[in-house]
Amino acid sequence: MARLGALVCCLLAAWHCRPGLGLPLAPAGAGPAVGQFWHVTDFHLDPTYHITGDHTKVCASSKGAKASDPGPFGDVMCDSPYRLIFSALDFIKNSGQKVSFMIWTGDSPPHVPVLELSTDKVINVIANITTTLQRLLPNLQVFPALGNHDYWPQDQLPVVTSKVYNAVANLWKPWLTEEAITTLKKGGFYTQKVSNNPKLRIISLNTNLYYGPNSMTLNQTDPANQFEWLENTLNISQQNKEKVYIIAHVPVGYLPFARDITAIRKYHNEKLIDIFRKYSDIIAGQFYGHTHRDSIMVLSDKKGNPVNSLFVAPAVTPVRSVLEKLTNNPGVRLFQYDPRDYKLMDMLQYYLNLTDANLKGESNWKVEYNLTQAYDIEDLQPKSLYKLAKQFAIQESKQFIKYYKYFFVSYDSSVICQGKCKIFQICAIMNLDVISYTDCLRQYHMKHSL
Ligand SMILES: [Zn+2]
Ligand SMILES: [Zn+2]
Repeated sequence: MARLGALVCCLLAAWHCRPGLGLPLAPAGAGPAVGQFWHVTDFHLDPTYHITGDHTKVCASSKGAKASDPGPFGDVMCDSPYRLIFSALDFIKNSGQKVSFMIWTGDSPPHVPVLELSTDKVINVIANITTTLQRLLPNLQVFPALGNHDYWPQDQLPVVTSKVYNAVANLWKPWLTEEAITTLKKGGFYTQKVSNNPKLRIISLNTNLYYGPNSMTLNQTDPANQFEWLENTLNISQQNKEKVYIIAHVPVGYLPFARDITAIRKYHNEKLIDIFRKYSDIIAGQFYGHTHRDSIMVLSDKKGNPVNSLFVAPAVTPVRSVLEKLTNNPGVRLFQYDPRDYKLMDMLQYYLNLTDANLKGESNWKVEYNLTQAYDIEDLQPKSLYKLAKQFAIQESKQFIKYYKYFFVSYDSSVICQGKCKIFQICAIMNLDVISYTDCLRQYHMKHSL
């Protein structure tokens, strides 16, 4: 008994001492056992946000609708007040977590009618958040990706150089190399090695070029030659034995809350999926934003073997549209990887309970869940996520009930997703191309007469 007690004690001590989660401490002198980086996305700063008695006038982003319960950290009918964004980044600064870098997947301006913004206003908002990041976290290398809102008019990012591309290239100079700045200015995408991880390359794609009804590329294949550039970059990385993290705003794959709708246009989705499959052995992770919800995807090869893990991070903004019942609490996340091969080991999702924060007048960011612990999986490798997704598909799956609560960043724990809702979620998690996705819907159709 005494020995068992000592063992438990020992385990507890190890638990408290470890630098992150799930990985043992490194022996002295062997370098860190775990590498970490932050992922933040979709800040959507609304500079007009202010508390006032007339709830229709709290923020321009509610577009005349009444704010629901406005407080110092925001409201679900509004985009983020500056105070919310500051609290998220201040939490990161004071978290005590040692990280190698941060990824930031875009969408800084608010959701307001086109005429309430301008190119200069969009640039100002991006500059505001960039300088906040640089001031609060001066020693942190940040890899940004542009979002569909990071342009004016929104969704119309061009395939040639523009005032916005030039402006962000200037703002992001402290983080990026000359080479990265050059392609960023030309087409809104770039690649760069992580300074303190020479065998890890970030590829920041401009998937906004393939998004939106008015996009410049509607009837063209790939006018910015981004696919060709991507393949070349991946090819060189393969030769140099580098690993790659893909970051972008609009994700590949299918929207998990809709039937048969890809986030980018289908033609471009198929092209990207082909490239990702071809280079899946060097792509160690893919990270996106845009949907404002927390979701995972597993890319399989054409034979059905899982080959890549994809993560869509929830937004910092809590905004919902008048038509939606649910939204997300504000969230930021921390990834953990094996510094020897950049394999993803774990993810910690942090969140702010907006109702609580507004009530107390102070922000209390805390862990919402730890991915491996919440689902009892080994790591974030494609095989582990694939096994998990298979468990989700089982009827009454407790794992899936949890997943759907986290989908909205614990905004409402009583939410239920059954029938079609669940089928769309499962098919989107496991199928990213048209053939396998259509097949998934067909199989469920036979079983449940969808
Ligand atoms: Zn967004
Ligand atoms: Zn977006």
